Amino acid sequence: MDILNKITIGMMPVVPKPIVGRVASRYIAGEKLSDAVKVIKSLHELGAVATIDLLGENSSDPDHVRKAAGTYMEMLDIIEAEKLDSNVSVKPTHLGLKIDYDFCREQITAIAAHAAEYGNFVRIDMEDHTCTDDTIRLYQEIHDQYDNVGLVLQAYLHRTINDIQPLMKMKANLRLCKGIYIEPRRICYRNRNIVIRNYALLLEELLKAGCYVGIATHCEETIWHARRIIYQLGLKRDQYEFQMLLGVQEQLRRSLIDEGHKMRVYVPFGDEWYPYSTRRLKENPSIAGHIMRDFFGSSRGDGKR
Ligand SMILES: Cc1cc2nc3c(=O)[nH]c(=O)nc-3n(C[C@H](O)[C@H](O)[C@H](O)COP(=O)(O)OP(=O)(O)OC[C@H]3O[C@@H](n4cnc5c(N)ncnc54)[C@H](O)[C@@H]3O)c2cc1C
Repeated sequence: MDILNKITIGMMPVVPKPIVGRVASRYIAGEKLSDAVKVIKSLHELGAVATIDLLGENSSDPDHVRKAAGTYMEMLDIIEAEKLDSNVSVKPTHLGLKIDYDFCREQITAIAAHAAEYGNFVRIDMEDHTCTDDTIRLYQEIHDQYDNVGLVLQAYLHRTINDIQPLMKMKANLRLCKGIYIEPRRICYRNRNIVIRNYALLLEELLKAGCYVGIATHCEETIWHARRIIYQLGLKRDQYEFQMLLGVQEQLRRSLIDEGHKMRVYVPFGDEWYPYSTRRLKENPSIAGHIMRDFFGSSRGDGKR
């Protein structure tokens, strides 16, 4: 990361919210469910399916959690009514994990039960390392009742090679990603090449074991490994899917769709867009550069924007 990007990231707290909003708007469908529906319809026209995420994390108020769970129910109803090809992604801390484990499990179980009525599916996102054990346990316990749930694993964690052992036995439905949180050095790989190699190792093990994997990446090298493994194992198109975040690497997304791979796009929406946006921007400093230009452009009042 160059010095300019470091400065830009350091400045994030003082950048006016509307500027963050403008830059981040390509990564977020909007504030309302109807905004997400519109985006999903346009993705369908491009040949992609979706997973919808109601933005929010680290809830501390049980009423807030119940409201979020209610919105998930509504999302499933709308997906069905509008005949969208989309499932939903949930974050355990948004649904009360930091309040109480059982309370959180009840919420996600209820969402899975409602999804099951429609033959739909619930993906449990993976958050930072303080949630990993509980999230795997949530997945396993809910899966005992409803098999329309899936889990996310992170290739940057040392532990993931061990975590996949029981999951391979149950042929779990998994999304494999690199991992987005800034984790302590002792538990994760920091070297980019090692993370890519570990991703490839995990992906190969999971696909060999017959797990359905959502290959969640925008990284060309990781996608090459995925193509190699798919080719070497002679997999059919319905044994895996690629997944990308809304607004990221759209040309690479196009090329995978054109080749006939299934592509699912993660569509976040909701009024809690600000923390999500700043995390996206911190993760990809080249986008933060746009903020810098917007910031100085508008404060100079040079009439460019
Ligand atoms: C569908 C999906 C779901 C995810 N779910 C989770 C989850 O539950 N838990 C979790 O920890 N992580 C999740 N992630 C994030 C993931 O862990 C990575 O942090 C992220 O995908 C970047 O890794 P990469 O493999 O794309 O490679 P990178 O090498 O990081 O990125 C490749 C290129 O893609 C572009 N790019 C990548 N990420 C972004 C971004 N956020 N914004 C703008 N441009 C970007 C950049 O141009 C970059 O050069 C998810 C990712 C996807 C695609």
